[in-house]
Amino acid sequence: MTKSEQLFERAVKRIPGGVNSPVRAYGAIGEAPRFIDRADGCHIYDVDGNEYIDYIDSWGPIILGHNFPAVREAVVEASKKGLSFGAATEIEVEMAEFITERIPHVEMVRMVNSGTEAVMSALRVARGYTKKNKIIKFAGCYHGHTDAMLVSAGSGVMTAGVPDSAGVPEGCTKDTMTATYNDLASVRTLMESAPEDVAAVIVEPVGANMGVVCPKPGFLEGLRALCDEFGALLIFDEVITGFRLAFGGAAEYFGVTPDMVTYGKIIGAGMPVGAYGGKREIMQMVAPVGAVYQAGTLSGNPIAMAAGLTQLKYLYEHQEIYKELEAKGEKLYCGMQQILEEKGIKYQLNHIASLGSLFFTEEEVKDYASAKTSDTKAFAE
Ligand SMILES: *Cc1c(COP(=O)(O)O)cnc(C)c1O
Repeated sequence: MTKSEQLFERAVKRIPGGVNSPVRAYGAIGEAPRFIDRADGCHIYDVDGNEYIDYIDSWGPIILGHNFPAVREAVVEASKKGLSFGAATEIEVEMAEFITERIPHVEMVRMVNSGTEAVMSALRVARGYTKKNKIIKFAGCYHGHTDAMLVSAGSGVMTAGVPDSAGVPEGCTKDTMTATYNDLASVRTLMESAPEDVAAVIVEPVGANMGVVCPKPGFLEGLRALCDEFGALLIFDEVITGFRLAFGGAAEYFGVTPDMVTYGKIIGAGMPVGAYGGKREIMQMVAPVGAVYQAGTLSGNPIAMAAGLTQLKYLYEHQEIYKELEAKGEKLYCGMQQILEEKGIKYQLNHIASLGSLFFTEEEVKDYASAKTSDTKAFAE
């Protein structure tokens, strides 16, 4: 038995499923997860001494590679001053200034501790600001595990969300409507079903949680126009794409301006950080200045800010990194494509910049339904 297998045996007795987040459990692969010992640069080492090239990078945050010296030093230095104060610190101001001075559609920002919290808070603010109730999301897009976002994808357009998890009451999802990714007509149908009551449309500007599904030309622009037409806010969930597709995320990459954005993953450089932001007028709704309550004991934690801000500064000052990432993505995905062609395997390979995924299907993958036609057994193999 490997050390990973031994650890997993112990873990499942004390932690549900043996992991602190389901995606780590290797359920689809049917093996014990590898337990990680350490990582450096692009290499990651498990407790059995195996070395891997890390294509996960903690799901995005480690965009500069593991153990990046400037980030590590920033964490060490900050930790000497204390871990948390539950009071305001200078680095929170620096973080907010750094982001808002460089990302035009983020005039004000509030730090939280995860992407889930960022989404949960942004939705509350959108509802508070518009005084409307309904939220439109897209089947296959993931926005964290807040109650209102845990709706089943079902088939096609849905005007009232059905809980996709035990423990979520119908009352929490009834105002969540589900549209089809890349299908503006489905969004219009939902808007017209409640023309006075849609607070926001939330979207992954590149779908990255159903495999990678790129927005078709005009899709994001069309969402912008529909939101304007019906007086709803457009929220880009940039938890994956923010500071990754480009420094200014998908909004910069595609040139479409959302009213609000949510960040996570990369913004913390591997520390637990999320953030939401947007137009000043909207963000002024947030407590203590406004009537929408949102708080956090550890929000803006100085160690987390030190890590995140150092990484953001490095990315901003070295934007050639984004071209390099795109070139590396191109090389990887084109290489895969060549092999698949040689083997005569039916596939779809969606990719954009450093994001990409392989589907074993003949159908064009443009939404959740087509993503689900992929042969997951083949993928697991
Ligand atoms: C990961 C993710 C979240 C949730 O972030 P957590 O930090 O895991 O809570 C939300 N939205 C998107 C698009 C994500 O990829």
